[in-house]
Amino acid sequence: MLQDKDRIFTNIYGLKDKSLKGAMSRGHWDGTKQIIEKGRDWIINEMKASGLRGRGGAGFPTGLKWSFMPKESDGRPHYLVVNADESEPGTCKDREIMRHDPFTLLEGCVIAGFAMGAHTAYIYLRGEYMREREALQTAVDECYEAGLLGKNNKNGWDFDIYLHHGAGAYICGEETALLESLEGKKGQPRLKPPFPANMGLYGCPTTVNNVESIAVAPTILRRGASWFSSFGRPNNVGTKLFMVSGHVNKPCTFEEAMGLSFREIIERHCGGIRGGWDNLLAVIPGGASCPVVRGEEMTDAIMDFDGMRDVKSSFGTGGMIVMDKSTDIIKAIWRIAAFFKHESCGQCTPCREGTGWMMRVLERMVRGNAQKREIDMLFQVTKQIEGHTICALGDAAAWPVQGLIRNFRPEIEARIDQYTKNATSVGAVMEAAE
Ligand code: SF4
Repeated sequence: MLQDKDRIFTNIYGLKDKSLKGAMSRGHWDGTKQIIEKGRDWIINEMKASGLRGRGGAGFPTGLKWSFMPKESDGRPHYLVVNADESEPGTCKDREIMRHDPFTLLEGCVIAGFAMGAHTAYIYLRGEYMREREALQTAVDECYEAGLLGKNNKNGWDFDIYLHHGAGAYICGEETALLESLEGKKGQPRLKPPFPANMGLYGCPTTVNNVESIAVAPTILRRGASWFSSFGRPNNVGTKLFMVSGHVNKPCTFEEAMGLSFREIIERHCGGIRGGWDNLLAVIPGGASCPVVRGEEMTDAIMDFDGMRDVKSSFGTGGMIVMDKSTDIIKAIWRIAAFFKHESCGQCTPCREGTGWMMRVLERMVRGNAQKREIDMLFQVTKQIEGHTICALGDAAAWPVQGLIRNFRPEIEARIDQYTKNATSVGAVMEAAE
């Protein structure tokens, strides 16, 4: 188990002093100025060497992303935008950072902003995160009062942080939809290119990062890239906030080293599966958009980027949704399909129409009122959506359905057989009565 001394988040459950003074006593904001004095190139190289992969779901290397920002200014301001629109079902880690350990994020903003030549950061919060915003605003105010933010601050890099509240649309978690929303427009994804690093917020160079990716940066830079990369295995390193919901004995959010198996994680942190391991049916490993995996395949799989790829799913945000044998798996995936249909912004036809088709076919499959040939047809529909849309929501909607068909086809067929049998016997009774 990760030792206390190796934890980046020192107050993730909010049990310790949440004030700036308390955070400083636990080592945050320690030597921030000295890190900045080492220069932009040093910071970016160290972040690259650490192997940190973005914690928002896509897993893109953070240091590399920072390096895409133009080195020299062409007169346009640079912006850092923090994606705190945490809306993926099953994912609830960033809220713990913002409401309980907010100074990790704010210090990270200053350092990341400096590394990318930005003097301003916008933190875009999910619409429902009222308490998180209040806690974060209190922390921002404390930093201004202490001279850690604003002009001529103690870190030697002028920096302002603004909080912006979304209005509750899942699609605003997509980085370009988020930028549109931040500009005061309807939150719809933009066509890329141009990419935000060249043409982002207000047409200026912008980097959009997840909350956790920014919040871990100061500790990585303080302790060194080699410290961070010593956890986990190549290509999948570091510590990470994991979340487990559903049918475990103790659902929770916790920081753990990468590289553990699903079983180790559940036994160490969640008190095991409800009713025992034989009762495990399925797991969605990284938030609702990741393909569902059968329990027996998941048990000894390594919970990291490569491990989840090996079981034909995705690590996503590390938000595991655990389902035991009491779950109607077809209905569970139908519910996810209904979510994505609701959240589609409607710009592209495959997503706008396809999400509705998938939901409606699944609705009949939940009852068994479908034909077996429709299973392959449904799979084809997912393939017509995947990769044919402006943003990744189309893929996110297609993958859970693909996972269901790939892993639970016998269950779908059995449901159809049962429905047909019931319908036939009802028909026979009616015929006899006539
Ligand atoms: Fe909108 Fe869906 Fe197209 Fe994304 S994929 S732009 S959510 S219609």
